Amino acid sequence: LAAKKHSDHRSQFEICGVTFGGDLVPVFAGPNMVESEELIVNTAKAVKSHGAHFLRGGAFKPLSFPYRSEKYTETRETGLKWLQTAKEEANIPIITEVMEEQFVDLVAETADIIQIGARNMQNYPLLTRIAKTGKPIMLKRHFGCSLRDWLGAAEYILVEGNEKLILCERGVSAPHTHRSSSRFLLDLQVVPAAQEITHLPIVTDPSHATFWRKWVKPMALASVAAGADGVMLEVHPDPENAAVDPLQPINFEAFGQLMNDMELVANAV
Ligand code: PEP
Repeated sequence: LAAKKHSDHRSQFEICGVTFGGDLVPVFAGPNMVESEELIVNTAKAVKSHGAHFLRGGAFKPLSFPYRSEKYTETRETGLKWLQTAKEEANIPIITEVMEEQFVDLVAETADIIQIGARNMQNYPLLTRIAKTGKPIMLKRHFGCSLRDWLGAAEYILVEGNEKLILCERGVSAPHTHRSSSRFLLDLQVVPAAQEITHLPIVTDPSHATFWRKWVKPMALASVAAGADGVMLEVHPDPENAAVDPLQPINFEAFGQLMNDMELVANAV
């Protein structure tokens, strides 16, 4: 189902009036974690004013360590309510993650696109459960999985008749990627490689791939040049004080500049 039927075959569909799989490069922007109502509403307004198409942010978070401080605590159901407020106040659709089957329906009430995180890419019961909501889905690639495994996971969604499916490359583990250089390696080559064999749109997430904000811009621009069908970016009003991965997000001003630069690259290629 994910395979192209002929060389020009591309899925094209609309989500909340935004076309995927066409010439537009939709942008998903927002903080890693939905930290507070004020933060998410302000971020929603800022990214929207700079042209973002979707607000991203996790209320349910797959955090790498189990330890929690007040700052580092998932906001869960409350975070979803804040996302809903942000959506209404800024008039911007939402993409957010769900990690457990028991919360799928709840998340589906607020999410315009349900995100399946890298760690859950091969959680097949979860994939099937989310697909059955009929909601558009973004399937992130696990950092240790091949393109073949990724498309295999996509089949679990497509086979349920859910066709509004977007793939997201978010960096792979590579032996030379070290915390001091880069946490993961954005596999830019997978963009044209995937587009050669699947009709599904493929976006990239330079923020999670690079881990360092200074490399988000070059990798976002390179993604657009490589033909990505969208870009996901972590944007925070006060990056140094972000609750999660504070080295990763860019601020509102940098986001505005990057939006302009991505448009220049998109028009040039
Ligand atoms: C995220 O986008 O918030 C996230 C946790 O991403 P990933 O699953 O790629 O780590």
